[in-house]
Amino acid sequence: MIRRVLPHGLGRGLLTRRPGTRRGGFSLDWDGKVSEIKKKIKSILPGTPCDVLPDTSHLPPEHSDVVVVGGGVLGLSVAYWLKQLENRRGGMRVLVVERDHTYSQASTGLSVGGICQQFSLPENIQLSLFSASFLRNINEYLAVTNAPPLDLQFNPSGYLLLASEKDAAAMESNVKVQKQEGAKVCLMSPDQLRNKFPWISTEGVALASYGMENEGWFDPWCLLHGLRQKLMSMGVFFCQGEVTRFVTSSQRMMTTDDEMVTLKSIHEVHVKMDHSLEYQPVECAIVINAAGAWSAQIAALAGIGKGPPGTLQGTKLPVEPRKGYVYVWHCPQGPGLETPLVADTSGAYFRREGLGSNYLGGRSPAEEEEPDPANLGSGP
Ligand SMILES: Cc1cc2nc3c(=O)[nH]c(=O)nc-3n(C[C@H](O)[C@H](O)[C@H](O)COP(=O)(O)OP(=O)(O)OC[C@H]3O[C@@H](n4cnc5c(N)ncnc54)[C@H](O)[C@@H]3O)c2cc1C
Repeated sequence: MIRRVLPHGLGRGLLTRRPGTRRGGFSLDWDGKVSEIKKKIKSILPGTPCDVLPDTSHLPPEHSDVVVVGGGVLGLSVAYWLKQLENRRGGMRVLVVERDHTYSQASTGLSVGGICQQFSLPENIQLSLFSASFLRNINEYLAVTNAPPLDLQFNPSGYLLLASEKDAAAMESNVKVQKQEGAKVCLMSPDQLRNKFPWISTEGVALASYGMENEGWFDPWCLLHGLRQKLMSMGVFFCQGEVTRFVTSSQRMMTTDDEMVTLKSIHEVHVKMDHSLEYQPVECAIVINAAGAWSAQIAALAGIGKGPPGTLQGTKLPVEPRKGYVYVWHCPQGPGLETPLVADTSGAYFRREGLGSNYLGGRSPAEEEEPDPANLGSGP
């Protein structure tokens, strides 16, 4: 098998090539040598010039410090932030392997692209606040020379969460945490709700919470495209293929309690190439599982869930592909064609409405005054 060998930038990277591996060592002027050989063959062979060395540009590199399995928004985001850690260009080799470049079943393509700050854990609120800031400054984060600026089509629109009597106290406590973390969220009584959204039935509603900024939705395809374009400019490798196997090596180590343990680590990823039974081995130091709804299958390739029942190794990653639903309500008196949109996810019930009282772009949150829910006005 003839493979293209890419110039390696691993000198100080995470992975140092072990001498004596079956693919041998590296030569920095490999490309030059290949071109010399091509010229020689062309001069010897009769007839029209032909490329006797096949094009291998679609193949993954022979080794990569990090292999990211899955090229959805999460995999690309991990690759982006890893590359940001590089202290010199090409210091860390990152390969993203994606089996379906149409993203036909990937959550990223199916997503509604909504962003919300209304969570109960401070970590999630902080993540979402940072994401809002990232989206607001997308053309700084993902700028690429000579590429037009990205337009995420951000549609500012607050999430409206409704709580029954039973859940009102939890909602109140969540909003307290959200405000402590810096999110602009307000509580609304059923009267305030009726006043602002006359088309909503408040039957059974004891309390509502409403996001006043940094909430809305955008085009997830645009984000995916922007990340991909940026990663290419940063030197990230992409490969279309399916990760089907990990090759592991075991090391026996003594713990501080004098217990002998066996540690397994992945040192090679097999990528099955598209429309082919051929696989390509990629030597690596770190594998990132970003396979979305198929993450449990990738974890299983690493032995996770395959150990004795009741042990950590015997615990499967509890992720599986399931159909998700997003509903568009028939609401002729509602605020707009695209809204309200309702998602019902395991008991969580949220609505969006299309009023312009919040935003993602424009002024910073500090410039906005804390709005009084009583003055939010009514919907159109
Ligand atoms: C209907 C719907 C609506 C949603 N709405 C929202 C929303 O409004 N707001 C929000 O924040 N989130 C929303 N989400 C969730 C959000 O879309 C996901 O959390 C996010 O896109 C997950 O990204 P990901 O990269 O982890 O997964 P994905 O986008 O699914 O990417 C995983 C990728 O891994 C690839 N892959 C899998 N196995 C392999 C393998 N063995 N080898 C190579 N590649 C492999 C797949 O082909 C896939 O492209 C929604 C999801 C759905 C389904």
